[in-house]
Amino acid sequence: MQCGRDAEDDRAVVDSETGTALGGLCHRCERETFGICLEEGVWETTERCLFCSETGPIALPAYKLEINLVDGQEGVEDGHALTDETPLLCTRHANDLFDLKLDAGDRRPRGSRRSRPPNV
Ligand SMILES: [Zn+2]
Ligand SMILES: [Zn+2]
Repeated sequence: MQCGRDAEDDRAVVDSETGTALGGLCHRCERETFGICLEEGVWETTERCLFCSETGPIALPAYKLEINLVDGQEGVEDGHALTDETPLLCTRHANDLFDLKLDAGDRRPRGSRRSRPPNV
């Protein structure tokens, strides 16, 4: 999944249930895989997979660099934060797109609430 063209990942691929980083996508790979849809933010829901109606355990948080000024001190936070806007993929589509071998079986009862780790 790592193409090696860019040192920095533009977007991470994260298992939102375990918080495990599965890999990353640079800007070019994101384009090749998703076209402009992620940049444009035209997905319909952030509760389900981008491509089907399965719930999406795999999150694609964009890389964010935040600079906060607190008491004149510059604090820099960076990372792949999972937010309500973060696009999701189901296990099957994540496997297809990224050539992963994730267990596509139900890992939890259907309809259960998914809890997201605050940061990855
Ligand atoms: Zn790439
Ligand atoms: Zn899907």
